[in-house]
Amino acid sequence: MKALQVNLEHLVRREVRLEGQLAVEALDIDTRDEMIRLGGPLLYELEVSRVSDELVVRGSLELELHCTCVRCLRPVVHWVRLKDWQCVIPLTGPERVMPEGDLVDLTPFVREDILLAFPLHPLCEPGCPGLLHSEPGRARFPQSLDGLASPSVWSKLDELKFE
Ligand SMILES: [Zn+2]
Repeated sequence: MKALQVNLEHLVRREVRLEGQLAVEALDIDTRDEMIRLGGPLLYELEVSRVSDELVVRGSLELELHCTCVRCLRPVVHWVRLKDWQCVIPLTGPERVMPEGDLVDLTPFVREDILLAFPLHPLCEPGCPGLLHSEPGRARFPQSLDGLASPSVWSKLDELKFE
């Protein structure tokens, strides 16, 4: 049984509590953004109950992201925290989930909402001034347009430009 699966049989009598960690591999998220990488396992604390023909999932989800600030390129840790997450999963009708035997996998629902909570443009701090205006030595790549960059970088760029 996978970490985020519930057994429908168990839900007949009582709520089911799921608590633990899900490896990022199992979460199977493609961030499609080179500025965002998954930093650790998904931490979850969920309560699942069955209300007539629906599963109601409530609880919290937390996931650490290792981002790169889109302005200054500094590494920055960003936590996705869904504290009062709720999800309703229909067991009948056109949108119904397909159980494997008695097991319903919550992973796709968790993945979808976690992805929606990702930062669109990660910043190290609100109002980050970016590379050009940062103090020397503060940025991870202290290159700027006024001659601080090593000449080799620029000559390489020039070579590319004139090819
Ligand atoms: Zn920044």
